[in-house]
Amino acid sequence: MRVVTLGTGSPLPDPHRAGPSTLVTLGNHHLLVDCGRGVLMRLAAAGVGAGQLSAVLITHLHSDHLTDLNDVITTRWISTFEPTPLVVVGPPGTRAVVEAIESMLRADTAYRLAHHDDLTEPPLTEVIETVEGPVNLPIGPSVTAAPTDHRPVEPSIGFRIEHDGHVVALAGDTVPCAGLDALATGADVLVHTAIRSDVIANIPIARLNDVTDYHSSIEQAAGTAARAGVRTLVLTHHVPAHPPGQGDEVAAIASRVFPGRVVVADDLTTIDIPEEDS
Ligand SMILES: [Zn+2]
Ligand SMILES: [Zn+2]
Repeated sequence: MRVVTLGTGSPLPDPHRAGPSTLVTLGNHHLLVDCGRGVLMRLAAAGVGAGQLSAVLITHLHSDHLTDLNDVITTRWISTFEPTPLVVVGPPGTRAVVEAIESMLRADTAYRLAHHDDLTEPPLTEVIETVEGPVNLPIGPSVTAAPTDHRPVEPSIGFRIEHDGHVVALAGDTVPCAGLDALATGADVLVHTAIRSDVIANIPIARLNDVTDYHSSIEQAAGTAARAGVRTLVLTHHVPAHPPGQGDEVAAIASRVFPGRVVVADDLTTIDIPEEDS
């Protein structure tokens, strides 16, 4: 298995960090978890095209996690040569978002259908809404969802992806909760949003201070990783964001709580499982 953090930013535009998105590759399958700003540029840098995605998994319906889903839908459509429905898995409400995107794209869809004789179908999507339990993907990988706690964003979910005896868990945005603990139990890798609550507390901007009450601090993310007994904790969705390559302070805070390996992700950080895989 391979995990690539495609985008490690947040809602705040950053010249060095795309919006939240992670690629999980297992065998021939590529699963895209969230679709933040710039996702297809980073996916291209990881050597994967929209047409190669087996499914898109959405953790919750905050705009920073799905703002480029429209780009994934359109680009997959025009870059594949047979009708290949895009499977989109997400919490209840995901179908309405996908239908709204398809509606927003109606003019573009009509132009391209009129222009290309070999395009005969509009973009095809297959939405699976879930809160908890095994996800019935039409293709191989074993994916399980469980509720997380990002209230008032509700429902929000995390994912556990299993392949060949290995496990990757993806928390999305959440405070510590039983659902995430279950998803992360014994995982090789836990990808987790982490907020510098210590820094934000000293910035007198209420709208920024609000982010601390529904995201995990670094210590809380590390606490979840420790409780769940994961091997590697991958921290992403940095708020405020540090310059790429300068995450030592973040790693040090996490390591006070979590004894395992800590990776402070930048865009396109790659984690192979097991480590000797290439
Ligand atoms: Zn969120
Ligand atoms: Zn977010």
